[in-house]
Amino acid sequence: MHTAGNHRRKLPAGIFLLFAMFAGATVAAPAPNNIGQLLEHAEAIKTTDNAGFVRLLQEIEARTPELSDLQKWRLRYLQGWEATYSGENDKAKSLLEAVINQAPDNGLRTRAIATLINVLGVGHHYEEAFKYLDHALDDLAETTDQDARAHVLAEASQLLSEAGQYDLAASYANQLRTDYPTGRNNCMGHMFGLQAELHGGRTIVPKERFQDAISRCLGVDDKLAADTIRRDMAIMDLQHNKLDEALTILQGHYEEVKELNYPDLNAEYNILLAQVYWKQGDTSLAQKFAMNAIDIASKSDLTEPLISAYQLLYQIERQYGNLRDALAYHEKYVAADKEHLDDVREKALAYQIVKQEVEAKKGELDTLNKQNQILQLQQALDHKAVVTSRLYITLLLTVLASIAFWLYRLKRSQLRFMRLARRDGLTGIFNRQHFVEEAEQTLRYVGKSLRGACLILIDLDHFKEINDTHGHVVGDAVLKRAVAVCQCHLNSCDVFGRLGGEEFGILLPECTVIQALERAERIRNAIQQVDSDEDVPLTASFGIAATAHYGYELRRLLIAADSALYRAKNDGRNRVVVSMDDYAPRTTGSSQSRHAEASPYANSAE
Ligand code: GH3
Ligand code: MG
Ligand code: MG
Repeated sequence: MHTAGNHRRKLPAGIFLLFAMFAGATVAAPAPNNIGQLLEHAEAIKTTDNAGFVRLLQEIEARTPELSDLQKWRLRYLQGWEATYSGENDKAKSLLEAVINQAPDNGLRTRAIATLINVLGVGHHYEEAFKYLDHALDDLAETTDQDARAHVLAEASQLLSEAGQYDLAASYANQLRTDYPTGRNNCMGHMFGLQAELHGGRTIVPKERFQDAISRCLGVDDKLAADTIRRDMAIMDLQHNKLDEALTILQGHYEEVKELNYPDLNAEYNILLAQVYWKQGDTSLAQKFAMNAIDIASKSDLTEPLISAYQLLYQIERQYGNLRDALAYHEKYVAADKEHLDDVREKALAYQIVKQEVEAKKGELDTLNKQNQILQLQQALDHKAVVTSRLYITLLLTVLASIAFWLYRLKRSQLRFMRLARRDGLTGIFNRQHFVEEAEQTLRYVGKSLRGACLILIDLDHFKEINDTHGHVVGDAVLKRAVAVCQCHLNSCDVFGRLGGEEFGILLPECTVIQALERAERIRNAIQQVDSDEDVPLTASFGIAATAHYGYELRRLLIAADSALYRAKNDGRNRVVVSMDDYAPRTTGSSQSRHAEASPYANSAE
């Protein structure tokens, strides 16, 4: 078939196989004068009759002036193909690149790309191979040349499989199968699909699928593909220790594979047979076929069969006890394996690098799109600037209004809390603290003009008894009643507050002792006379202190009024007592005591 093996180093099995397989369809012999037909014929026989192809190519080259522009590019593509075939990779690369970049026909360009991917793969330029593959896959939708299209899909499946991307490889094989339901491309799709699945870790594939793929390939008379599929089936059998089944497959087609003279597959059949025999315990046959594999692989510079063969021979020699030979094979095995692993790593890395680059480019595009969107948005905003500013003003006003409303409510509740803080919870009059504040302020005010004021302290009599007899609720009602009575006898400027449990204070500004006494008397009478729902008799005792006697300091007035109140209680309650202690003009600072006993003022209701 071909003898190009020696020109190529470390030939990747799949890629080489593929290259051999994409032969054109057979065509009738050309009319010698029709240069277009000569080109087509050359294309058709390029893999099946290499010598004839080379002759034809030389003939066409000699008639170059007759060629149209497109035909010249076709010639260049075929020249590139021949250079690939004969292992002149650099020459092949420059010819194919020229076609890819300049040829006016899309199908031709795609064929050139597919062939170049092969060249690059064979030459271990995996990164470039993946770049071209990416390029070709992007253009695939527009590729109308069906053979070129199928060629790209097949290259994709093979190259991705080699890079360890078995899922992707399987999906391209699947596309090849479904896009081309019959013919050679369909056979390829089945073959690559099975390979990708098996390499990808699917250990059990139904035999019917292998049989189906084989019969499809035999249907297009592709024995190489059929035997390749059989090889994969035998590998699966070997993995599952179905040694007899593997042996039947391998022995059954061993001669055919040998005749096909395709070193890759030939070497693999040999090493597989060696492995089956070894597992069956037939050491000498195992050794024989392993040696065969090494012979074939070395001639064609194939790495993968060598690894398995050396490893097996190492085990065999060790079993024989030939430790020196065993060691020598082991060293060879390690060297071949390392070479292979490096290659695998290189492929996987190349795939990742290209993938990253492609994604980075997509990322850049996304960024550009986003920037564009932002620009458009800005333009739209400019148009709407007027509308927007109106909206802003409305929004601002709304915000301001709600802030104002919120402040108003805050103020209102603050005021409410302040009021609550100043008032006594039960009676609603000033509590002790606020009474003190208000009374002091009033005293300061009247003190400036020396207009005088009086403080009355009121304490309900025997209130504890009321609570004890009628309960607390009635006690509360009585307290409120007493407050209401007091309020009836107050002026607007009087300061009235609850100083403790059942004790109240009234500061009467601009009031003389006599006036205070009268007011107290009226209140005392009113308290004891009031008719109430509770029907609880109530009296109160009163103590009075005047600024005229004690000055404008509230603390002193409170003490004096309290002692008068105490005296009122002592004297039998329900009465008013005016404190006359320390009655002396404050200007003199005299401490002389002039007791004005309550008697002249004290009024008893009892
Ligand atoms: P006196 O004539 O000596 O003043 O005797 P009194 O019982 O009024 O005096 P005392 O100080 O012994 O008792 C005051 C009572 O007032 C004690 C307390 O239970 C009651 N009291 C204080 N505050 C309240 C209140 O808010 N509601 C009710 N129902 N009772 C209160
Ligand atoms: Mg009391
Ligand atoms: Mg009391």
